[in-house]
Amino acid sequence: MELPFAESWKIKMVEPIRKSTREEREQWIKEANYNVFQLKADQVYIDGLTDSGTGAMSDRQWAALMMGDESYAGARSFYELKDTITRITGFEYLIPTHQGRAAENVLFSALVTEGAIVPGNSHFDTTKGHIESRKAVALDCTVDEAKNTQLEVPFKGNVDPKKLEKALAEHADKIPFIIVTITNNTAGGQPVSMQNLREVRALADKYNKRVLFDSARFAENAYFIKTREEGYADKTIKEICREMFALADAMTMSAKKDGLVNMGGFIATRWEDWYEAAKKFCIPFEGYLTYGGMNGRDMAALAVGLDENTEFDNLHTRIHQVQYLASLLDEYGIPYQRPVGGHAIFVDASKVLTQIPKEEFPAQTLTIELYKEAGIRGCEIGYILADRDPITRENRFGGNDFVRICVARRVYTDNHMKVIAAALKNVYDRRNEITRGVEIVWEAPLMRHFTVKLRPLK
Ligand SMILES: *Cc1c(COP(=O)(O)O)cnc(C)c1O
Repeated sequence: MELPFAESWKIKMVEPIRKSTREEREQWIKEANYNVFQLKADQVYIDGLTDSGTGAMSDRQWAALMMGDESYAGARSFYELKDTITRITGFEYLIPTHQGRAAENVLFSALVTEGAIVPGNSHFDTTKGHIESRKAVALDCTVDEAKNTQLEVPFKGNVDPKKLEKALAEHADKIPFIIVTITNNTAGGQPVSMQNLREVRALADKYNKRVLFDSARFAENAYFIKTREEGYADKTIKEICREMFALADAMTMSAKKDGLVNMGGFIATRWEDWYEAAKKFCIPFEGYLTYGGMNGRDMAALAVGLDENTEFDNLHTRIHQVQYLASLLDEYGIPYQRPVGGHAIFVDASKVLTQIPKEEFPAQTLTIELYKEAGIRGCEIGYILADRDPITRENRFGGNDFVRICVARRVYTDNHMKVIAAALKNVYDRRNEITRGVEIVWEAPLMRHFTVKLRPLK
């Protein structure tokens, strides 16, 4: 008999979690203005809000914390981190930052000016925010397949080379760089193929532009290349990472994802001129160059985390769990972005709450229902997150309307996945009784989803 799959680790420390009653949850979500970001974590049973900074560190990472060098300048932990990043990516220059958006802030302060156009594949919300707040445009060139949630194609995160070439041909002088998000978070954690990265590189070279990888989940992207793209089955994850980054000029990184740490980020690049330009903003915004936004101990733990998470077994354990959750949704007939991506399930709310109009935010409504059902916290990746058009101030209803349920790295067991799936099924089974959505009572001008206040419609 073939041995079944099992996790590539065992558990050394546990953290209790608590269930609640529906009455408690109804009160709590009301107090939170129907915005799950405003719930207290203790009011949540299984937290699928994000996979960002929520992972469990390994014994090796905890040991590395104790070895951190907290020297203000020239810390050993900085050089250890730099060596690890150079080994994985080939990039020589490193600027540590306190998280991914800080890396964007530092680098874009140097590179993005008013009127610029930054083409890419479904820019992440903070990335878009850092572009738009500089009065520049984040131009989405994702393949059209990403919009069709039921289409099973292996690399739905890809850049559409035709759209990119059109942008380059029309606006070359306004484009400071091309950005490729791996994996494509906003399109559903969908990977980008090596072939597509090569096509982007070729276009960039043709128009003499540089390519930046928004790399929060680069290791998961490498896993999908290994398991889905022809010619990569026998390559190691580290070999695939080297090949991916050879096609880029720089990366911004949220280490809270594939770095397996709870806080941290960085910029890495092969170009001295970009490093010099970013340095000027690192010092006032983040800190001195050999720590930026991080403690020595956190850089030490990140170096270990990057090394661990570019090993196949660790990634296989993680992505297997996400795929297990997806298989349960398949069993119950619940529509989600197919095929499932690397870090989360994106339930297609527009196919579940079909009677709720866009203006009443179906995915947000479903997020609230799931919380009330079982204390499970997902997150709307839809029309609220999409914000308003910076010029017309109209809501942007053009994209997908998802409820994202993230799977934290090395935190929950497959039994927790069963609870999530069962709760979703219960809501799905009574979907026809949910006839009204929510309206916005208050919103911030930028990145409104974190603080938006909502009211259920009756
Ligand atoms: C999380 C994330 C960011 C921002 O990183 P933070 O660490 O949350 O600031 C940028 N891009 C992508 C693709 C991300 O997933």
